[in-house]
Amino acid sequence: MKKYRACASCKHNHTKCVPDCPLAPYFPAHMHQKYRNAHKVFGGSHLTKFVKNLADSPHKRSTAMKHITAEADLRTVEPLGASFGVISKLWRKIAEEEEELRRVRLVLGVYRGVQGNIFDLRELDVNPCNSGYASQLKSEQ
Ligand SMILES: [Zn+2]
Repeated sequence: MKKYRACASCKHNHTKCVPDCPLAPYFPAHMHQKYRNAHKVFGGSHLTKFVKNLADSPHKRSTAMKHITAEADLRTVEPLGASFGVISKLWRKIAEEEEELRRVRLVLGVYRGVQGNIFDLRELDVNPCNSGYASQLKSEQ
């Protein structure tokens, strides 16, 4: 018979983990760091309350626990901003990338404009190298 491994929550709190432990599905034994982060940010009793309050909706409970653990992980890495800090960084990155895209489009527009002028000159059979100024320079030499 396989021995039942205590979940990360029960292991952390030194309690006996029972098969219907409310936190076991979200914090298996190998996820001790994830539990430590969630415990530090929200507190162990609050985690149990969250799970128990959503007992009648497994889908909501699962989603809530994913968000709680993600927020706890982010707060561990970035205590001041957490998810807001990450979102703010992404908004700044998007703004920078949009500015870069605007600059590239501007340069591309200038390049196309220059190319368009050269093609227009070719269509008119006017080559800037053979213009009057160039032939004037040749005659002066
Ligand atoms: Zn447990």
